[in-house]
Amino acid sequence: MSFSSLAQIAPLTGEFASPGSETAFLHHQQPQTQPLLGFTLAFCTLFYVAFAVTDLAALGFGEAFLTLFSARMVVALTAGACTWLAYRRPLTVPAMRLAASVAEAVALGCFMIIAIYRPAEFHWHAMSLAIMLMVVYLYIPNSFVNTLLLAFSSTAVFVAIALGQGRMNFTDVVTMSMLLFLTNAFGALAARRFNRISREEYRAQVELRHAAERDHLTGCHNRRYLHEKLMTPLAQQALCQHARVAVVLCDIDNFKHINDSHGHADGDEVIRSFARLLAAMTREGLDSVIRYGGEEFLAVLPGATLDEGIALAERLRSRFAAAATLSAYGQEHIRTTASFGVAAGAADMEDGPALRDLIAAADKLMYEAKRGGRDCVRAMQVL
Ligand code: GH3
Ligand code: MG
Ligand code: MG
Repeated sequence: MSFSSLAQIAPLTGEFASPGSETAFLHHQQPQTQPLLGFTLAFCTLFYVAFAVTDLAALGFGEAFLTLFSARMVVALTAGACTWLAYRRPLTVPAMRLAASVAEAVALGCFMIIAIYRPAEFHWHAMSLAIMLMVVYLYIPNSFVNTLLLAFSSTAVFVAIALGQGRMNFTDVVTMSMLLFLTNAFGALAARRFNRISREEYRAQVELRHAAERDHLTGCHNRRYLHEKLMTPLAQQALCQHARVAVVLCDIDNFKHINDSHGHADGDEVIRSFARLLAAMTREGLDSVIRYGGEEFLAVLPGATLDEGIALAERLRSRFAAAATLSAYGQEHIRTTASFGVAAGAADMEDGPALRDLIAAADKLMYEAKRGGRDCVRAMQVL
């Protein structure tokens, strides 16, 4: 199944409907969102503290100024701690969201205290709140639901304070509320649009990578993946984390005969069912299954011994020989066998064999199995 059919985007939030896809996306974005969170918080905190000058101008130096200054310092400390967290690695996605939510809640909460202490300037406060809402909606990376809750609840509290103080006339309160509502509505729409666009872009990237690295018929990796992801010096180095590695090369027996007698559509079904069996027997996320040729498959098993490679090949051999593939039109059962070459060696850059040497050895062994009558496994430890 392709990624696009799995990763549906929820129309209301613009986020992936499935938690697995959303987590994968957030992990992928983390190298960008982490510094964005740090930079936005640091930048906004600087302004937040600088605006203490306006407290001084409005209230003069005294108890009220000191209270607001303390509130601004609380925001600076909270945002500073969250910025520090944002630059620390590794940081989990939930921790990053918690940092964003706490910084937003404290900044908006302290802003309400400022509004209470400076009731004569509610028009300016409304403008400041609109700017803060834009930052919350568009710049601070958080979940859509958290953002909406924080933005709407702070707007409601702000309007309630304006009403409670009774300094603004009714028309002004209504106008201000409507403008703030508009800010929230467009902020939410813009956030949802941004969410959707960034996820569509990610989904396209995943699909493109999938198309470039996977075989269309079976969904297994292709030769490009083998050469670009497994055979590079870096990949070989990563393989060295495991003490050893085994490779299994498989070739379906007498396959030309299946094509000739049943047709290519049925041949394709046999290839698919072999690939399914092999994929089900390997370890997800660790082993790699590659469609090496038309009806040839290669399994690369990091950490596996020769015996473990042989065990996999034998299990696959007997299961495939026993199973029958239903023809493409569901009318016939097709049975055949496969031959296997298994090679294993130390995963060591200096002394161990290179992956290409192991594959070459497995290839020779597979042809030995063909000469030995097919439907069998030949194996060798490569030193
Ligand atoms: P052996 O037991 O010696 O392996 O005999 P074989 O008939 O399997 O011989 P060989 O491996 O040379 O045959 C491979 C055939 O697979 C040749 C090619 O026409 C066919 N083939 C390659 N790719 C595909 C494919 O995607 N679909 C189908 N249906 N056939 C394919
Ligand atoms: Mg072949
Ligand atoms: Mg063959």
